[in-house]
Amino acid sequence: MTPRDEKRAPERSPAGVIQPDFATLPRKVAEGARPNLVGLTRDGLHAALIEAGTPERQAGMRTAQLWQWIYQRGVSDFSQMTNLSKDYRAMLDRTFEVARPQVVTHQVSADGTRKYLLRIAGGHEVEAVYIPEEDRGTLCVSSQVGCTLTCTFCHTGTQKLVRNLTPAEIVGQILVARDDLDEWPVAGQRPPDRRLISNIVLMGMGEPLYNFEGVRDAMKIAMDNEGFSLSRRRITLSTSGVVPEIPRAGAEIGTLLAISLHATTDEVRNELVPINRKWPIADLLEACRQYPRLSNSERITFEYVMLKGVNDSDADAKRLVKLIAGIPAKINLIPFNPWPGAVHERSDWERIEKFAEIVNRAGYASPVRTPRGEDILAACGQLKSATERARKTRAQIAEEAGLPG
Ligand code: SAH
Ligand code: SF4
Repeated sequence: MTPRDEKRAPERSPAGVIQPDFATLPRKVAEGARPNLVGLTRDGLHAALIEAGTPERQAGMRTAQLWQWIYQRGVSDFSQMTNLSKDYRAMLDRTFEVARPQVVTHQVSADGTRKYLLRIAGGHEVEAVYIPEEDRGTLCVSSQVGCTLTCTFCHTGTQKLVRNLTPAEIVGQILVARDDLDEWPVAGQRPPDRRLISNIVLMGMGEPLYNFEGVRDAMKIAMDNEGFSLSRRRITLSTSGVVPEIPRAGAEIGTLLAISLHATTDEVRNELVPINRKWPIADLLEACRQYPRLSNSERITFEYVMLKGVNDSDADAKRLVKLIAGIPAKINLIPFNPWPGAVHERSDWERIEKFAEIVNRAGYASPVRTPRGEDILAACGQLKSATERARKTRAQIAEEAGLPG
């Protein structure tokens, strides 16, 4: 403690502005109801600090300092934010919190995949999955608790939508994974050349484009240069095809795009991905053609889950390449990941290989996604929270999807 702290003399900023006496400012909120600083946009954080009594002329600098502590250093305890005065830290501590979702369980697969079950406000649970690979480490994050959509092959689709995640809860998944991987830079040490979390995919629970603002604000934080500073080209937003939001995503979020196509005729897609009845394949592909910055280095990923006898014929493969002709694209073939009670089966490997060959011959890279974390039900489309396992009734499914029952 410095003598100045002891006497609580007014602090002077470099510009000569008298600081309010943060030690005696009134307590703003009741214990346990402190607003979380995580997930606020930069403007939001700036406004919150002013509201809490920070002089306007200093708020820009305080915002930058807090931003760095929270997102660059992973610090959540205000008392460790040593470039802020002691009284200011005490005021922050009385007024705000820097909170992450609570980690309920944490499973590690035999292949190194890690799944986090997180508890969020209201007692709901969501999952995030970290997938280490040779050349990258990908964090798969959730955007909603459950999903309003009802794709027949997806475990999340059997869980009712409970609510959208807040930006804090989306960003919180990154914070939790970084904590677990011990990936916060140490002061005075050069950060390692390789990042453990080098990529983010919005492929967990929920439809990101039905939580547009939450996802946008969270990804802005993930991309901010003073924080995690992930390139927008290392983030992929996957959508089942919420066509009217795709141009907005291009303009306001700017990440790469993945489309859950999964079928080559409207007839089959109407069944597998029921949102297709609202926005059919032609509309979806038109929105893709218009997506900004499309190029060979910024291709759209078309995801295609391989379902035995449903969408895996040679004719499907040929139709697929015809459909996407002219769009800078790669095709991601996902062997169906089974879950308890699923009606579909995974296509045989020979079938998947034959399908991939046709796609490859047409000039598309078509990596077959190796199922990861299967032993802990962490693979794509298997996420579903333990507390909300009640299966939807047929009527609920129809109603939520806006379809006739
Ligand atoms: N709601 C978004 C993002 C989450 S799902 C979307 O649908 O795109 C992420 C990906 O996993 C999607 O391509 C989805 O179709 C796929 N998927 C869902 N269930 C699956 C399963 N059981 N096996 C393989 N992929 C699945
Ligand atoms: Fe929802 Fe995506 Fe699952 Fe479809 S595949 S039910 S959109 S999470």
